Amino acid sequence: MRHFPIFLELQGRSVLVVGAGEIATRKAEPLRMAGAVVIQRARFSPADLEGVALAVGADAPEEDLLALSLSARSRGIPVNIVDRPELCSFITPAIIDRAPMTIAISSGGAAPILARLIRARIEALIPPAYGRLAALADRFKSRIRTALPDLVQRRRVLERLFTGHAADLVFAGQEEEAARLFEQALDNAPEKQGMVFLVGAGPGAADLMTLRAQRLLGEADVIVHDRLIGEAVLDLARRDAHRIYVGKVRAHHCVLQEDINDLLVSLARDGKKVVRLKGGDPFVFGRGGEEAEALHAAGVAFEVVPGVTAALACAAQARIPLTHRATTRAVTFVTGHTKEGRLDLEFEPLVKLHGTIAVYMGIVSLPQLRDGLFANGLDRTTPAMLIERGGSHRQRELRGTLDELAAAAPGWTQNGPTLVMIGHAVARGIALQERSFIDTIPPQASV
Ligand code: SAH
Repeated sequence: MRHFPIFLELQGRSVLVVGAGEIATRKAEPLRMAGAVVIQRARFSPADLEGVALAVGADAPEEDLLALSLSARSRGIPVNIVDRPELCSFITPAIIDRAPMTIAISSGGAAPILARLIRARIEALIPPAYGRLAALADRFKSRIRTALPDLVQRRRVLERLFTGHAADLVFAGQEEEAARLFEQALDNAPEKQGMVFLVGAGPGAADLMTLRAQRLLGEADVIVHDRLIGEAVLDLARRDAHRIYVGKVRAHHCVLQEDINDLLVSLARDGKKVVRLKGGDPFVFGRGGEEAEALHAAGVAFEVVPGVTAALACAAQARIPLTHRATTRAVTFVTGHTKEGRLDLEFEPLVKLHGTIAVYMGIVSLPQLRDGLFANGLDRTTPAMLIERGGSHRQRELRGTLDELAAAAPGWTQNGPTLVMIGHAVARGIALQERSFIDTIPPQASV
């Protein structure tokens, strides 16, 4: 973070704006809206800094801007000279005004246009009526604090008001009806009741998560997550949410599955809104099934939120059509996980399907996998691919036959999660790239 954001109290305070042009006048506007008494001068004179809380300069002669920057800084008065970062002690963000709610965005001076584009998006996302909703909440603030001293309970009630019928009423202009719902919420505060959400976080890119997953992340009191969850995803969590890491590194089970199950149950019984965040989809090789069973057995309410599983993310980014009307009519997800050193897979039906095979956790057992498939009739020239960190900007791909891939894999992988994709669809993916996307695809490693 290059700058520290704050919101400044300027009610009734003097602010000096030096410059007479259009930019200076435009800069004065939001200052007035924040309650400042703006003193605008065409030229700078040090005496004008007397008793001033903030100073801004634009459209004035160069020597005035330099002098303003220097004198303000020597007196400890925050100063901004428009478009001259070297003369500034503060910078101004792009603002979305939903009074009393204010959203400020900054690129730290690196890309102001990008900040403005982001502002436009947020503008579209947050209707002006959100300001009225915040104002209504403000009216009830102290009564809600008194009636609901417990923070978790208070948050639950407010979240329901902000996302439910009360919010709809405010947006529809029926503030008084909405206020009645606020009153009711004070009278019958709900029981503290926890719930667990088994949420698929997708392959790692935050924008490949579902909207539901994003919303729940922002609402959860506690987030219990794995190793495969990246920072970009966790950044969507509430700042004060409690994060518990229960990751497993291959073969080192640092937290036992039973302990994770018990943890989820006890957090929910404690009244917490728990998001159990899992890479990809929670029900694809993620032991989400075991957690669901444990929650059900304990009588804890839970919901499952699907995610983009690794095979889908890898295929999309490598442009491999998992099925294709011409050649491939099935896709199978299998695990290459071994039990006591043995692969527990039915190879024969797998080969007979003539479909795409996506192997999760298949890198270590790749030689066994190859032997099993070939022994059951898979053509030795069948195209295959290793895809590491699929669905992220660090995705890597290696194409070859299974013989070639098994030989190359140990030296090629870089410890990221890797999927093995086998079948004629893989070749279709290559053809697709060569035909129309070749210019945009970086050169691939080859065996
Ligand atoms: N629930 C997850 C899978 C967990 S099993 C999902 O639906 O995607 C872990 C295995 O998934 C890894 O060993 C690897 O084979 C695969 N995997 C997970 N994320 C991946 C990614 N981004 N790229 C490639 N493979 C991935």
